[in-house]
Amino acid sequence: MKNKTRHLLGISGGKDSAALAIYMRDKYPQLEMEYYCCDTGKELDETYQLIENLNSYLGKPIKQLIAKDAIGSDQDPFDHFFKMYRGYLPSSVARWCTKKMKLEPFENFVGNDLCVSYVGIRGDEEREGYISKKANIQSIFPFRKNIWSTDVLQKAWSKKGKPILRAFYSNHAQGSRLDDYVQLINQTIETEKDLKHIVNELLNKDVPLFNRAIFTVLKEFKVPLSFEDDFPMLDNEDVIIKEGVFKILKESGVGVPAYYNKVTYKIGGEEGAYARSRSGCYFCFFQQKIEWIWLYEQHPDLFAKARTYENDQEGFTWNQHESLDDIIQPNRMKVIKSEYLKKEQKRKQAAKSNSPYLMDILDDGDDVGCTACFV
Ligand code: SF4
Repeated sequence: MKNKTRHLLGISGGKDSAALAIYMRDKYPQLEMEYYCCDTGKELDETYQLIENLNSYLGKPIKQLIAKDAIGSDQDPFDHFFKMYRGYLPSSVARWCTKKMKLEPFENFVGNDLCVSYVGIRGDEEREGYISKKANIQSIFPFRKNIWSTDVLQKAWSKKGKPILRAFYSNHAQGSRLDDYVQLINQTIETEKDLKHIVNELLNKDVPLFNRAIFTVLKEFKVPLSFEDDFPMLDNEDVIIKEGVFKILKESGVGVPAYYNKVTYKIGGEEGAYARSRSGCYFCFFQQKIEWIWLYEQHPDLFAKARTYENDQEGFTWNQHESLDDIIQPNRMKVIKSEYLKKEQKRKQAAKSNSPYLMDILDDGDDVGCTACFV
C-alpha cells in the first residue's frame, strides 16, 4: 500500500502562519491539513487569543505539541527546560529554546512519516527560514510565487535533474519559446543567487508550467511529493504580501493579533507609534529595543518577569550589551523612542519614493528570527 503523505501547518501565533492556515483551509479544503502549535508557556495573551479564534475558524483542533521531556512536568515548557539547563537562559548564540520547544516536538510529531510542511513566508520576504534536514519532510511556501524550497530546486538543477527538466519543457513548448526555456535551464549556476535568478525567469514566463516541471523532476528523487500523483498547488499563481495577510485575517473574522495594533507615544513634541512586530515569548532576545519599551509600558507585569529572569542570572542580558534596568532609564527610553520615530519617518519616506534599497535597510525587523517562532 502506498504511504500516505501528511500535510502539516504550524501555527506560531504570528500573523503570517495564521493567515496561511485560513488561506489553505479556504482554497484547498481537499488537503487533509493537520494544524499544530508548540506552546512555550511564555506567549502573550494576545497570541493565545489568536489561536483560540483560529481553532473556531478552522473547525479542527490545533494540536499542542510538547517536547517529550516536558510532558507531565508541573512547570510550563520554558521553565521546565530552563531548570533542566541549570538556570541558563537562551540567547541567539545558545538557542536551546527553539530546539527543545519547537523543532524537536515537531520532528517527533512527524516521526518517519512522509510529510509536506506548509510555511507562511510571504511573497515580499527574502528569507527561507528553518528547513528540516530530514528527508521525509518537505517544505512548501504557498504565499510565494516560488513555492519550492532551495534544496528541492538544487535537486532539479543537479546532473540527474537537468535532463528531465529539459525533456519536460521540450514536451510542453515549441520554437523560440522552447529555445528560451532550454537556454535558461542550461545557464551555469555558481551561487544560490544564480539559481534564484533563473527560477524567477522561468516563473515569470509560466508559473503552472514551472511547477509541473519541478513536480515531474521530483519523481526521480525520494521527497514526499514524489510519492503523490498530483498536487493541487501546482496551478497556484497567488502571491500574498503583508497587506494580503492582514486582509485575510480581517475578512475571515479571525482578526489581527492585538499586539500589532500601534500605540501612540509623545516624544519631543512629536507623536510616534510603537507595537510588537512578532509573536513568540514575551522575553524573546530577538526583540528590538522599542519592543522592550512597548512591553514595559503595555505589559509591565511581563516586563517585570523578564527582568527577574535576567537579574537571576549573573552577567546575562536579554538584549546584547544592555540590561533591562538600563533600557528603562527615563533618558534611555527617550533616546530609543526618538530614534525609532526617526527611523519610522524615513521608512515612510522610502515607501513613498518606492526605494526598495532604503526599505531594506530600514525594515521594521519583521523578519528577524526563524520560521519556527515568528511566521
Ligand atoms: S520566541 Fe524567542 S525565546 Fe521564545 S522560543 Fe523562540 S527564539 Fe526562543
